[in-house]
Amino acid sequence: QPLVEVLRVTQRYGGKDRQFTAIQDVNLTIGDGEFVALLGPSGCGKSTLLRIITGLNRPSEGLVRYRGQALHGVNPHATIVFQTFALFPWLTVQENVAVALQARGVTYDEAQKRAIELIDLVGLDGFEQAYPRELSGGMRQKVGIARALAVDPELLCLDEPFSALDVLSAETLRGEVLELWTSGKLHIRAVLMVSHNIEEAVFMADRIVVMDKNPGRVITEIPINLPHPRD
Ligand code: ADP
Ligand code: ADP
Repeated sequence: QPLVEVLRVTQRYGGKDRQFTAIQDVNLTIGDGEFVALLGPSGCGKSTLLRIITGLNRPSEGLVRYRGQALHGVNPHATIVFQTFALFPWLTVQENVAVALQARGVTYDEAQKRAIELIDLVGLDGFEQAYPRELSGGMRQKVGIARALAVDPELLCLDEPFSALDVLSAETLRGEVLELWTSGKLHIRAVLMVSHNIEEAVFMADRIVVMDKNPGRVITEIPINLPHPRD
């Protein structure tokens, strides 16, 4: 059984008289164990599709199934890592991670404990009490990843996670994300990564889904047959 099925999904934005079709008739399947990259020009609806798959947007038409069940509302097993990190600047690294846990009903003490473990997992031990502004771009994105992992996701969605980083930091972090994915330390069953970098997609993913715009739709899918770091 696939993890995610997107069935004839259309998303329109705007009111009655000014409607805009962001994506139209999109079908997509993500298998259990798969790393899928979503590639396409700016504005083709990649983020929209991510929001629909995680249940943050309700599609205008069509259906998303998760493990065979129609998705209603936010998918508690899915999480998104954002391009611009979206950290709270007034909170420390540890607090930024812990709030994600507390928001899900975990007690304060348990959240602090788990946050420290996750910060260690992404290689930021020693920076628990630092503020985001004191960290490099790469380190900030690691905090973003630790916070996303706090919910113990099965489906990890990454929305251009390396685009805001310089070339070297992006390179390092790509390797570290692949290592997390292959380590088996987490319960992640699939990764969906939005990218506009074809080399990055080929390097990281098992399959590339290519979208085009006006309206946003899937135009082709490319399996990657390279020997993978995971094999
Ligand atoms: P991508 O991630 O591929 O750049 P998006 O999903 O962000 O594409 O956007 C697809 C299209 O939908 C764009 O034209 C964008 O301007 C529009 N759009 C995205 N979100 C909204 C919204 N909340 N309201 C109206 N239009 C939106
Ligand atoms: P940037 O986006 O600024 O290039 P990087 O994460 O690639 O950020 O690293 C920038 C600097 O921060 C480097 O000098 C690196 O050694 C240091 N750094 C990154 N992660 C850690 C860490 N976990 N512990 C100590 N130093 C780190």
